[in-house]
Amino acid sequence: MAAAAGERTWNLPERIIDLSEANTWKEAVPEWSLRDVEILDPGEFDQCLCGHKPIRQLCHIQNSKNGKLATVGNCCIKKFTGEDLEEAEFAVVPRIVAASGRMLANPRANANEPLIALGLARGFIGQRDATFYEGILTKRSHTQAQARWKASINDRLLYGMLLSKRAAYTRLKEDVTRTAGPKLAKYAFERKVLSQKDYTFYQQVWGRSNLTVKQMSYRTGLNRKIVRNLAADLGDQGHGAGRD
Ligand SMILES: [Zn+2]
Repeated sequence: MAAAAGERTWNLPERIIDLSEANTWKEAVPEWSLRDVEILDPGEFDQCLCGHKPIRQLCHIQNSKNGKLATVGNCCIKKFTGEDLEEAEFAVVPRIVAASGRMLANPRANANEPLIALGLARGFIGQRDATFYEGILTKRSHTQAQARWKASINDRLLYGMLLSKRAAYTRLKEDVTRTAGPKLAKYAFERKVLSQKDYTFYQQVWGRSNLTVKQMSYRTGLNRKIVRNLAADLGDQGHGAGRD
């Protein structure tokens, strides 16, 4: 299919059609949904499906018909809402990116409704968490218990989606009592730093704020192992080494 005039150098429609079941851009777009938004730390970068790089605000999208995944920058994702494409799926991305930026700068900042909805859809938070969060969004001050609950939800949104594994590593190195999060734990398992048993444990506890003293100290032990063994991959030496 011939590209419209002026779009010849921008090959995202072509690349998306290649990964879709439909054969036109207009029919292909509705096959895709937002899976994750990830904001890379300074020094990290990735590449948009269109070939443009570096990008640091990543939208991970998935095709609902064939399960294929793609990563698109936050500029190109705007093209997924053409004039006659009522594709609300991606219209929330700028708001999610804005809330993500605030939370990365300050982990106590407020998430917003589309980010909470995405976290709920991905299973990083539950319905009770989402209802609670929406209830406190408009309040200026929280009780201690509310602040703790909110912090645990923020952590699950940050580590589940917004932070890359490298960003999680940087934060873990600063404080080994924190969570490594699911991305870094998975990578540590793939690199054989965590055994199957330890990885299963980590998957169960990474987002929980009510660990027993024993679980906490076990997790901290695993964290030390992760920090030590992945220093060459994810520490300062490996910093800035993105994909080419
Ligand atoms: Zn692009």
